[in-house]
Amino acid sequence: MQFSDRLANIKPSATLTINAKALELKAQGIDVTSLAVGEPNFSTPEHVRDAAKRAIDEGFTRYTAVPGISALREAIAEYFRRSYGVEVTPDCTIASNGGKQSLYNLFLALLNPGDEVLVPAPYWVSYPAMIYLNEGVPVPVKATAAAGFKLTVEQLEAARTPKTKILLFNSPSNPTGALYSEEERDAIVRWALDRGLFIIADEIYDQLVYDPHKPLSLVGWWKQYPDRIAIINGLAKSFAMTGWRVGYTVAHPDLIKKLSQITGQTTANICSISQKAAVAALTGPYDCVESMRLAFQKRRDMAWQELASWPGVACPKPEGAFYLFADISALYNDAMPDATAVCTRLLSEAKVAAVPGDAFGAPEGLRFSYAVADDVLMDALERVRKVLIGK
Ligand code: GLU
Repeated sequence: MQFSDRLANIKPSATLTINAKALELKAQGIDVTSLAVGEPNFSTPEHVRDAAKRAIDEGFTRYTAVPGISALREAIAEYFRRSYGVEVTPDCTIASNGGKQSLYNLFLALLNPGDEVLVPAPYWVSYPAMIYLNEGVPVPVKATAAAGFKLTVEQLEAARTPKTKILLFNSPSNPTGALYSEEERDAIVRWALDRGLFIIADEIYDQLVYDPHKPLSLVGWWKQYPDRIAIINGLAKSFAMTGWRVGYTVAHPDLIKKLSQITGQTTANICSISQKAAVAALTGPYDCVESMRLAFQKRRDMAWQELASWPGVACPKPEGAFYLFADISALYNDAMPDATAVCTRLLSEAKVAAVPGDAFGAPEGLRFSYAVADDVLMDALERVRKVLIGK
């Protein structure tokens, strides 16, 4: 078959593929632990599930307005008032099929062929693919473990060209868990705005930051520069709602109208039942979010202490999200020459699935998700240690 040129650079999502492989082995009776995918092991909170059941029982099962029901757009706006004290109006919001659709549609709405997007690396696996699919050019800008996987303005400036149109900003980061301080972030935002760039802030992990840090959002900057910034978030990570597929974008109403047109011509509204669930999540008590955050923080501490003690492994302490990204290049040898070879051995010998850094633009490392139960996590890491450092 002949496929479009657009697909030339597109590979399957490594996070989803490796997780699927682990699930397949499990189904065959092999006891594999997947630290491959960023999916909370918690159940969706009860009041959210109840709202969905009610929606079904009440027959709320038809098409809705494309950008989402008014109650959901109001709840998204309310989230920013409640979390950040910033007034957002519902016409500046649109619901999407996960944060992924928000991001994809933003690229579709903003990129012309050849436009460049600065993508801080290590980056989440789907960023470059989405940019390629929209005929843009991803320009990775590499942050090192020694720099805490954070970039400076100087590095970004060195990567900027006349074709640079967008800066993608993701803090806390997937896959490193790096969290930019307000000062570091503001320096980058000022630089991007001064250079006329559009900023897409992927804030899917904003609630998952660990003490003493507090959630940070670009929404205050967006309020000042509404036509220069778009914010993406969703409920998958902080409300344990991966399968419900609820994401959203906050942007200038003119851009929201374009996103809505794209959505209307492609997928139409997101699942009506998920919308009711999302309203319950966003307007309900946030103590469920806090208790999951504390559980992730405990796991971060346990898992990071373990990894950081391994000789030859460089792993800056993550301050958010639920991933550890370890530079293990000092351990590469003839038997394990690269991250993919390491992951293959981890899967066959340790029965642990992790994602090789190549998928994140960082072949020197591996990503482990710690969104699994404490004992499962520590048991898996012990098996990884035996394969990696032999004791
Ligand atoms: N974002 C999560 C991860 O990085 C979920 C899988 C995906 O969509 O990539 O593992």
